[in-house]
Amino acid sequence: MTDGSEKKKIRSLDEIKAEALECHKCALCETRTTVVFGVGNPHAEVMFIGEAPGRKEDLGAEPFIGAAGQYLNKLLAMAGLKREDIYIANVLKCRPPSNRDPLPEEIHVCTPFLREQVMAINPDILVTLGNFATKFILKTDRGITSLRGKAYTAGKFYVLPTFHPAAAIYDKSKCELIESDFILLDELLSVERERKVKVREALKERAEEEARRRANAPGEQEHMEF
Ligand code: SF4
Repeated sequence: MTDGSEKKKIRSLDEIKAEALECHKCALCETRTTVVFGVGNPHAEVMFIGEAPGRKEDLGAEPFIGAAGQYLNKLLAMAGLKREDIYIANVLKCRPPSNRDPLPEEIHVCTPFLREQVMAINPDILVTLGNFATKFILKTDRGITSLRGKAYTAGKFYVLPTFHPAAAIYDKSKCELIESDFILLDELLSVERERKVKVREALKERAEEEARRRANAPGEQEHMEF
């Protein structure tokens, strides 16, 4: 991921989606039923990134609608979030046959869509679910087991890596760990919200101070106020 400082135009989610729905850049277009672009709040504070659509998602054209999705809803509640608060997308937009792992060349050609989605939504926090999303966002080869449990930064975003909910469904020993990661998400969100309130208050104070200064300097040249 880059920090978005490049001058490239940020497209709307609708524009990116329109292109993704017609995409034939890799062989997964031949076996998919639908392109699973991503859903949720376009102004989300938190964006979740999974791996690739499964069978149900491929049929329903929406990420996380199976058992993993139900578990994700439970986890979200632990962080004080609902599905409609967040945005969720996958590294790959089309289902790999038999849910095999994404191939490096598929990740290479598909992730420009994800990159654009992140820039369009501009969340505060990216939660990466599982190895593929985490390795892509943090540009690392380290596995999720050693990375989870802590927050990182990638460009201007906080990144919180955790297990994929599907992995915790198959291996119950991961449930306690993934749940503690969502409690950490709740804490990180509180800190970030407090920081934003402080920034807003500081800006307001500075504007008021500037207005007072101008009022006491009547000779100052007039100009447009925004
Ligand atoms: S997986 Fe991505 S790159 Fe491949 S066809 Fe689907 S949208 Fe295009």
